[in-house]
Amino acid sequence: MSVLVYVEQAEGKFKKSVFEAVSYARAIADQESTNLTAISIGDVAESELKELGKYGAAKVLNVSADQLKTFVNQAYASVIAAAAEKEGADIIVLSNSFSGKGLAPRIAVKLKAGLADGAVELPSTDGKFSIKKTAFSGKAFAITELTSTNKVIALNPNAFGVKENATEIAVENFAADIKQSDLGTVIKEIVRATDKVSLPDAELVVSAGRGLKAPENWGMIEELAGLLGAATACSKPVSDADWRPHSEHVGQTGISISPNLYIAIGISGAIQHLAGVSSSKVIVVINKDPEAPFFKVADYGIVGDAFEVVPKLIEALKAH
Ligand code: FAD
Repeated sequence: MSVLVYVEQAEGKFKKSVFEAVSYARAIADQESTNLTAISIGDVAESELKELGKYGAAKVLNVSADQLKTFVNQAYASVIAAAAEKEGADIIVLSNSFSGKGLAPRIAVKLKAGLADGAVELPSTDGKFSIKKTAFSGKAFAITELTSTNKVIALNPNAFGVKENATEIAVENFAADIKQSDLGTVIKEIVRATDKVSLPDAELVVSAGRGLKAPENWGMIEELAGLLGAATACSKPVSDADWRPHSEHVGQTGISISPNLYIAIGISGAIQHLAGVSSSKVIVVINKDPEAPFFKVADYGIVGDAFEVVPKLIEALKAH
């Protein structure tokens, strides 16, 4: 028995959600009194791989193959499942990120494992291996008991936190057997370069909706986010109208996020939007309609016109 954690890299670097997944996997390994190994796929420098030791990984399997330069769910899932078999790992942990959502069920099928996706807590220690996880697009929590020998857990970002636990780490190359049938055909790959805070990992998010009226009004949203060091997000109609990129769309059909602070400006709070943001720790709503449904889930609310409130917030932040 051991624990394997998949560490997703982006341009050779690990994001905060990866260190969180390693911290969480380390805590499970401690509960089960077993080892923790990480698996990284893609070109990552040894110094970056060794960063994982800070969070408790004792070994990292490094898979670097030309065919795996582009992320393909099926191929990555096969490699992670093969690594689990090689290591004798029966608990596989990964972040419930955009790619983690595609990988987790595929790994579970390959290993005939039970799956807890959207986990928000450690498994119980009462011998039942029950895990609290989000259900119904984040509208409820469920306690899922994994009774299978193999178990896959996809941890919601920001649910556990990053916990340092320095360990001596060994880097080992892993030559995965990659099947052509798993690779599919890549028609076009678009890599978007940005120096902005990445939305899935962000601790602070400033989000805006149709109440902003037009794309040219996003200047103040960008400015507010910049002053706070926050990522920007938006509602679905806004990205559908091409006012903002689809990568910023949060909700049932977009990204699910759990930042420490979510500021929703000119967003009504439809159930499909809330599905992606309701697990935020603190929600602040700015809306000119006092009856807007978002106020029902808000921790703080400002009834007012965004075009008056946001410039005042910016002014106040600049004054500090
Ligand atoms: P609106 O509903 O038009 O609300 C605009 C808000 O801005 C209003 O509350 C208004 O009072 C306020 N406002 C207007 N002017 C101002 C101003 N000057 N200052 C302050 N406030 C102002 N939506 C998502 O966001 N994410 C999803 O993933 C998603 N998935 C969906 C899936 C399905 C199957 C369906 C059917 C719908 C989905 N939707 C999703 C759409 C969702 O139902 C709502 O239509 C959408 O969230 C509304 O976006 P909005 O709040 O920006 O716009």
